[in-house]
Amino acid sequence: MTTWQDEASRDLLNLGGRLALLVRGEGSHVWDADGVRYLDFLGGIAVNALGHAHPVFVDAAAKQAATLAHVSNYFATPQQLELAARLKRLAGAGQSGHVFFANSGSEANETAIKLARLHAHKTGKKTILSLAGAFHGRTMGSLSLTPKPAYQDPFRPLLPDVAHIEVTVEALERALADDTVAALFVEPIQGEAGVVPLPDGFLRRARELTTEHGALLIVDEVQTGVGRTGEWFAFQREGIIPDAMSLAKGIAAGFPLGALVTFGENDLFYPGTHNSTFGGNPLATAVGNAVLAEIENTDLLANVTTRGTQLRNAVRGVPLVTGTRGAGLLIGITLSAPVAADVRDAAQRRGLIVNAPTADVIRIAPAYTIGDAEVDEFTTLFTAALAEVAASHPKESK
Ligand SMILES: *Cc1c(COP(=O)(O)O)cnc(C)c1O
Repeated sequence: MTTWQDEASRDLLNLGGRLALLVRGEGSHVWDADGVRYLDFLGGIAVNALGHAHPVFVDAAAKQAATLAHVSNYFATPQQLELAARLKRLAGAGQSGHVFFANSGSEANETAIKLARLHAHKTGKKTILSLAGAFHGRTMGSLSLTPKPAYQDPFRPLLPDVAHIEVTVEALERALADDTVAALFVEPIQGEAGVVPLPDGFLRRARELTTEHGALLIVDEVQTGVGRTGEWFAFQREGIIPDAMSLAKGIAAGFPLGALVTFGENDLFYPGTHNSTFGGNPLATAVGNAVLAEIENTDLLANVTTRGTQLRNAVRGVPLVTGTRGAGLLIGITLSAPVAADVRDAAQRRGLIVNAPTADVIRIAPAYTIGDAEVDEFTTLFTAALAEVAASHPKESK
């Protein structure tokens, strides 16, 4: 008999993953093809902000699909205009900000890289800086800003004039000192690195230094944006305004959509310099509007903050757990041993989906809509998974 795993290895590129065959979702739960139910605390990697099959998401997609799904960027649509204005308002982008719609985080970052190049050509500066541990995507440009040898090495040569620096204010000062930097890319919290927040004050200092040295500050909020951390955008916690911000993941809660929001007078694009066939089509942007309106209307940001605190408290002092990082519902749970993959697998066997971005970190990014029932279910399943793994690693557990 051919299993789904056989089909996957026969027909899909061999890129790993494929932990289960999922067929249905509702709220914070998904079901596999055998009818096994899982509590989904990965949320499609910080995407499913409203959980699965939320009526607001379903209605918006169905209505727009039945009205006008796609027309190309030769035309504007009310949905696209509404979402652009909404993002500018939520981000505090002011009158002079602009929005470009893409289909993914990588594509939003490619747009930002092109903005950096336009700025470089205008100013004679050359270098694009990113930070150690950064993840900006898998396309050739965004990959060039993602300094992880396993991701980069098979694909060299990468973009020229890219440099990576340690995440310290001293390294930043040194890198910017000779005025050759065109743009600095930063994630307010490095999700793929294991939910690692920037050091205190780093983003504010990055804003001061980039302004002083004529470089663009581009924040990659693909994972942290649209409410994930309890603020609309994580940079807002620091009281700064960037020059541009990339978004994707949660923006349409499962419908593919990315965006670049520019702030101030730094919009250097003109007709012919960039576009995207699908980007910002009425179907995607109608869903984006409905999702963001739901987050706003039901004050889900407050729930993100409350539930995040509850979850951090729930795992405190549990065997193998050394601490938590992150903000809101983007949480990294650090372990005392490199057993995160074992914990992930033990959790999945018990009906809980979490993720292991590094060997000793578990990441959770559940729906903004979770309540006491989901927090309790998570705590029970996760504690049991940790106990199982701790029992097979008696030395590391404490
Ligand atoms: C996921 C992610 C990306 C890439 O997004 P894709 O939609 O997978 O292309 C870029 N930056 C950050 C911070 C991300 O978390």
